[in-house]
Amino acid sequence: MEQEEIRQLFAATGAVLTGHFILTSGRHSDTYVQCALVLQYPEYAARLGAALAAHFGGTGAECVAGPALGGIIVAYEVARALGVRALFTERVEGVMRLRRGFNLEPGERVLVVEDVVTTGGSIKETAAVLQALGAEITGFGALVDRSGGKVDFAEPFYALLSVEAVTWDPAACPLCRAGTPAVKPGSRK
Ligand code: ZN
Repeated sequence: MEQEEIRQLFAATGAVLTGHFILTSGRHSDTYVQCALVLQYPEYAARLGAALAAHFGGTGAECVAGPALGGIIVAYEVARALGVRALFTERVEGVMRLRRGFNLEPGERVLVVEDVVTTGGSIKETAAVLQALGAEITGFGALVDRSGGKVDFAEPFYALLSVEAVTWDPAACPLCRAGTPAVKPGSRK
């Protein structure tokens, strides 16, 4: 998939919106990212998974893993394209774990993926859990990088889309100052 085609797909499905938004954190932003809106279409999810898989095709991943919830569909579709299995980690009382009888072979090569990387916290915690179980991490992938390229990864990182997303404290928001109304994405009208 071409970069422009990916960008249009995210825009058309409302997965990446530009405007004036109130984020869950309470901060304001000019960009809203919600990958569930593009992933709700299985056909698009499969195409995005294949595009991500194409980048990591030569790395010999034997398994793809992602953190719940955001990483589940992405891991599944990337794994489908690579012809390997998919598993997910999940938080139990705040601690990332591999549960549900999922297992890894010693030295198994695992690609770790996520929908959106902001601080890289979840995806790195997933990698740490899998490494502790003997996995070898081959790389990190995401649909969207909204970190502005600020996250450091121990292995190669690749995202389909880079979204520059600035956030402000409401009191310092230039969009509020300009008088445009802020909207809370996902809330019913
Ligand atoms: Zn504002």
